[in-house]
Amino acid sequence: MEKAKLMMKNALTIDVEDWYMTQDFNFPFSTWGNYEDRVEYSTALFLDTLEKTNTKATFFVLGCVAEKHPALIRTITSRGHELACHGYSHRMVSRMSKDEFREDLVKSKHLLEDISGTGIDMFRSPTWSINENTLWALEILEEEGFLYDSSIQPFKTPLSGISHTPLHFFYPKVNGKILKLLELPPGIAQIGPLKFPFAGGLYFRVIPNFIVEFFIKNINKERPVITYFHPWEVDPGQPRLQVSSLIRITHYINLKKNLDKIEQFLQQFPFAPIGEIVREEKKYPVFEIS
Ligand SMILES: [Zn+2]
Repeated sequence: MEKAKLMMKNALTIDVEDWYMTQDFNFPFSTWGNYEDRVEYSTALFLDTLEKTNTKATFFVLGCVAEKHPALIRTITSRGHELACHGYSHRMVSRMSKDEFREDLVKSKHLLEDISGTGIDMFRSPTWSINENTLWALEILEEEGFLYDSSIQPFKTPLSGISHTPLHFFYPKVNGKILKLLELPPGIAQIGPLKFPFAGGLYFRVIPNFIVEFFIKNINKERPVITYFHPWEVDPGQPRLQVSSLIRITHYINLKKNLDKIEQFLQQFPFAPIGEIVREEKKYPVFEIS
């Protein structure tokens, strides 16, 4: 048997949004038409690398991207990848009312379903923005027919995350009720009391390969790692804006090297879409979030 078949599969996920839609710039939605559209090009870079490494992934797509680029969505599904929802307009859940969240969610779900002809039951909030203050969003996800959510980062940052939620998959108990919505946190390594995000975004771009490799191997003794990337993170040709030195790092650092780095990990470890990974095990614990 090939070595890869003996190794635990990790989840490869890609949040499909364009470079100007990120929280780094915080541009109002109404101005997005002013910026150079590169999402088809940058997503194609990812799709080609996946083809080359014979890897399937889960694509969390923004509704507004699907609306403007329906052919891209059909390309993603026709190549055998899994389609999931990233909301419509990339607004952080913490900046929406309950009604606004539901409207944004349902609009994007229906768009993706209409274009792809497949049911959508998996969601990821923009910028891990489901936290202690927005747990109502989990109940809305369940009410709207979602079965899987990958929105809670078990690591607190000024913008997002919850510090005390599990590192493994779990069913959330919210307001005394166990939800039928499996929560799938992004990969976080823990050494003693310290937690280290590493499995995607800026963290993956700046952490040396041997440390990422060490974390994946260690976590895989117990559970799969959920990784997360963005098409703009592999597109060094995107427009360079005059930004603060902090954003220069968070958004632009190591864009040139990133696709090669990702490809190396796809060759080194087996990856699969989330759906394939969660289907392999049926029992997950309940965790009460308060
Ligand atoms: Zn996003």
